[in-house]
Amino acid sequence: MITRKSRDEIKRMRHAGHIVALVHKKMREVIEPGISTKELDSIAMQIIKENKAIPTFLGYHGFPGCICASINEEIVHGIPSENVILKEGDIIAVDVGATYGGMVGDSAWSYAVGKISEEKALLMKATEESLFAGIEKMRAGNILDDISGAIEDVANSYKMGIVRQYGGHGVGHSMHEDPFLFNFRVGDKTPIKSGMVIAIEPMLNLGCDDVKVLDDEWTVVTKDGKPSAHFEHTVLATDDEPVLLTTLME
Ligand code: MG
Ligand code: MG
Repeated sequence: MITRKSRDEIKRMRHAGHIVALVHKKMREVIEPGISTKELDSIAMQIIKENKAIPTFLGYHGFPGCICASINEEIVHGIPSENVILKEGDIIAVDVGATYGGMVGDSAWSYAVGKISEEKALLMKATEESLFAGIEKMRAGNILDDISGAIEDVANSYKMGIVRQYGGHGVGHSMHEDPFLFNFRVGDKTPIKSGMVIAIEPMLNLGCDDVKVLDDEWTVVTKDGKPSAHFEHTVLATDDEPVLLTTLME
């Protein structure tokens, strides 16, 4: 069932999203060669707790971190570890959720570690651009396939692979609510209505679409070992412009 959020629910989601944005602001500052993904996780945890929120990911289906840290060919669900140290030239996707007042904000961003290759930079540019193309379609009167199609078109224009098995989702009282949102056209005519909130999250690959899950049963990687990028915002549909809930509040 797709719910439409009340004014009060949206207020709390906006606050949760602000906290998520604070984490990303800090990630941008501290991500550099030599830092471990466990350290990134600890920093995120501290910010979430300082702001009286709950790390949504920690314990979710048993996930052991409060961020997902996915490097290079890792697409999503990378587990933070003291043994995973960032190196010059890596790209890392940090996905984080915060629950505030019972409501969830969910946002992911890919970051360059030091100087990266041109092809990785292009992958990140394409993925971020596809996210914003999707966000632009999050308007009452459109259908879900409008968002999916906008993402697909940008991915195709850059000749990037599109991860098929994972996608966006409704978000609110829990992290994953209806509807599921594909990052390519599937013909879903579900109408977008004001008050609907969806985490839009394209995952694009430099190579093929195919993915596999590692033996840790969490980390999803590209089958061909080529890099992947991931960008995500939690977005509210209104009768007017789409509203990003996972940015810093003024
Ligand atoms: Mg996320
Ligand atoms: Mg999400």
